[in-house]
Amino acid sequence: MSDVYAEPTTGADPTDPATLARYTTLRLGGPAARLEVATSADDIVRQVREAEAREQAVLLLAGGSNVVIGDQGFPGTVVLIRSRGFRVVAEDADTVTVRVEAGEPWDDLVAATVERGWSGLECLSGIPGSAGATPIQNVGAYGQEVAETIVAVEAYDRTEGRVVRIAAADCGFAYRGSIFKYSDRWVVLSVDFRLTRSPLSGPVRYAELARALGVEAGDRVSLVDARATVRRLRAGKGMVLDAQDPDTWSVGSFFTNPVLEREAYELLRERAADLGEPPSWPCPGDTVKVSAAWLIDKAGFGKGYAGPEGVAISTKHTLALTNQTGTASTAALVALAREIRDGVQTRFGVPLHPEPVLINCTI
Ligand SMILES: Cc1cc2nc3c(=O)[nH]c(=O)nc-3n(C[C@H](O)[C@H](O)[C@H](O)COP(=O)(O)OP(=O)(O)OC[C@H]3O[C@@H](n4cnc5c(N)ncnc54)[C@H](O)[C@@H]3O)c2cc1C
Repeated sequence: MSDVYAEPTTGADPTDPATLARYTTLRLGGPAARLEVATSADDIVRQVREAEAREQAVLLLAGGSNVVIGDQGFPGTVVLIRSRGFRVVAEDADTVTVRVEAGEPWDDLVAATVERGWSGLECLSGIPGSAGATPIQNVGAYGQEVAETIVAVEAYDRTEGRVVRIAAADCGFAYRGSIFKYSDRWVVLSVDFRLTRSPLSGPVRYAELARALGVEAGDRVSLVDARATVRRLRAGKGMVLDAQDPDTWSVGSFFTNPVLEREAYELLRERAADLGEPPSWPCPGDTVKVSAAWLIDKAGFGKGYAGPEGVAISTKHTLALTNQTGTASTAALVALAREIRDGVQTRFGVPLHPEPVLINCTI
């Protein structure tokens, strides 16, 4: 079992101002009015219902790797999701469908699928957090995203007060988004992934990964090589959690890559004419996705750029905002995020949007 999550301290006082910082990878977040731990799907539903009966707001927290929690903390019940495990629920000659409990550490699951020769998650190696949170923002990296393999999500629907099964087609998956993100309605209990029985990865789509593997884009490689290479590339960018490395005390990418209408993209090219061509990728509907890291860097916020109280852009990746000393406040991190967002807007006229979920704070 992975040790990626901080385990709750028995008898600890949730109203201690440092409480939620313990459970987030940014090491930020104030107290909770109440803290509960749920170790099974039934337990998660029970805890949510009990909080509702107390008329308390609910915050679901699993790996804490995609949240920014304000210094005031959360004035309701925080439910720590610690359900574990996965099992095969359907299989045929070519595919395996695995049902994964929400609290299962994501990278443990990816390791297990690679070990068993189940293809489909290998490029998502090294991403922190839980399996149950992956549908929330349609987790993606290195040319793969979970929308490609999720077949259904089992969730507790807080509006209807019952457990429902939501087919992938109804999850509203989009680039770093879904119906679940920014919604209090759904509590993900388990996720079904359909994987292919194959010792080989899917076609390698990401140019940097293909280069590192020494193959052409579109080629397949062994699952083991894909996983090892992705983890190595990620580690070089501070994108694999490391308790010894403050460059990883982040939420990964703080801003999403902006997706621009063609006209806005041409305007950006004009404003950036002195800097060369902005890295971009064509998207559906004649839109263009632009590299947020490039915009941030060219607007004057390079790796290591420091804000107040020891918050800084990672020295390894321009998109990661970090709490380098582990002692900063959320206010300091948010101030740095605002400075960067406003600087990019002024220089290039492109709005940046945060990727993590902001709780009791705004940028
Ligand atoms: C170093 C680093 C690298 C990263 N790299 C990537 C990357 O490459 N690609 C990528 O997409 N993301 C990346 N992330 C972001 C993050 O790891 C993922 O979004 C991850 O899926 C979050 O999982 P979590 O369990 O930590 O979620 P949490 O941070 O605990 O929660 C995130 C949000 O989901 C909600 N939530 C959590 N569990 C449930 C549930 N069971 N039901 C309903 N809502 C729930 C929470 O309330 C919150 O709103 C990275 C983060 C870090 C720190």
